[in-house]
Amino acid sequence: MTELEQYLVSMEPDMMNVTRLFGIADAAWEELRRFAWSAWEEDGCYRCRVSGDGREAEGSAAIPMDGDAQLRALHRKRAVRRLCRQTIYDLCREVTGIHPPWGSLTGVRPTHLLYEALDAGLTEDEAVARLIRTFDVTEEKALLLRDVVRAQRSLPGPDDGQIDVYVGIPFCTTRCAYCSFSSGELGKGTLVEPYLQALFHEMEEGAGLIREAGKKLRAVYVGGGTPTALNEDQLSRLLERLMTLFPGAGEYTVEAGRPDTITPGKLRAIREAGVGRISINPQTMNDRTLQVIGRAHTAQQVEEAYAMARAEGMGHINMDVIAGLPGEKPEDFARTMEAARRLHPESLTVHTLAIKRSSRMHLENAPLPDGDEAAAMVRMGMETARQMGLAPYYLYRQKHMAGNQENVGYALPGHACQYNVDIMEETTHILALGAGGISKRIYPGEGQIGRAPNVSNIEQYIARADEMIRRKRALFLEER
Ligand code: SF4
Repeated sequence: MTELEQYLVSMEPDMMNVTRLFGIADAAWEELRRFAWSAWEEDGCYRCRVSGDGREAEGSAAIPMDGDAQLRALHRKRAVRRLCRQTIYDLCREVTGIHPPWGSLTGVRPTHLLYEALDAGLTEDEAVARLIRTFDVTEEKALLLRDVVRAQRSLPGPDDGQIDVYVGIPFCTTRCAYCSFSSGELGKGTLVEPYLQALFHEMEEGAGLIREAGKKLRAVYVGGGTPTALNEDQLSRLLERLMTLFPGAGEYTVEAGRPDTITPGKLRAIREAGVGRISINPQTMNDRTLQVIGRAHTAQQVEEAYAMARAEGMGHINMDVIAGLPGEKPEDFARTMEAARRLHPESLTVHTLAIKRSSRMHLENAPLPDGDEAAAMVRMGMETARQMGLAPYYLYRQKHMAGNQENVGYALPGHACQYNVDIMEETTHILALGAGGISKRIYPGEGQIGRAPNVSNIEQYIARADEMIRRKRALFLEER
């Protein structure tokens, strides 16, 4: 087998990602071998031929000749991959007549393509046109991406001298049907104290590491899980440690995701600690759906939690909702949007349901909702946000999303969450503490990211906290 042929074999999962955009089941590849493709070199070009369903598509692309041998090899692989993906995309589009909203793009961060074009000197309009022309992205999504990038460019840019801190509390009262996080059910709470002891130790060492590395704090985010699943005393102790060890960041967020975990005492502890942003997440305001997805709270409890948070003086509340939840139609999502308008969070994140492998929904073979309905709900989310004066500022995509849509964060002017942008764009160092956290070191100018993952199993984390610290010290303090 030639090197090119070997490379083509390794690309099959990538090609399947493209056929999934058209609702073609993976079984079409596995059982029927419905698609075949080949690529070869000819007259200074790569050529690709894809056949399937009795039809054929062909494409060609110039063989990159730039850079040194290593860079050239990388660019050539990228060129072959892009050509084959585009050729199978063209064939599927012709056979099915479907125009996927994001065209042939299957990556998590489509913003990167726009940044790449702008950095190469294109104007916004030219960059948008290139996205539409090259990847067949719909105009609606290309303009959304333009707005997101525009909003991000008005925020403080990446800074090698700064670092974000993430603290994970991996406990929830119950497990949501779509959840793919490593969060454990709180149960009787017997693991909480040992977990906090290990976490406090890691936080102390992490604060020391930041000093040694000479970095300044940028944003601090306490997520999970559900941090407010801790009791009032535990949460207060956590926040006290957090503020003592990581003072002076530009932004602090605490997720208070489940409304049934929120009490006036916890909200007071959050506000008095100096945390400016919390997240209270209904996901849906339909009680029947809340039951189906295992959230164990009601829409009424969401309303009460918002009232409580406002009464405690919380100035920035974020709301997460999901379009395309099981059994929901656009009219159900409209009720959730009505509640968003009434409760008026300062920021709103509209997710689209994605069924990930480690979720209960995947195990139960739950189907994704109809693509057109998912699109209608996502559009409704966008319109609601605009009516509320919120603008899109971060965006990412996932595999197996309803209708091949996206997740978008919207915020009032001055309320964009820096941490959300940093984590999605991967341009800022992140020190992640707690089970399942992944620390990232950015190597500016090299396009490289170093990672140090913490174990996600809670017991393992408690037993191996020192090892997690060593991993991070190696990542941030050792020169490459
Ligand atoms: S609240 Fe979040 S972390 Fe907890 S179970 Fe639900 S999706 Fe998972």
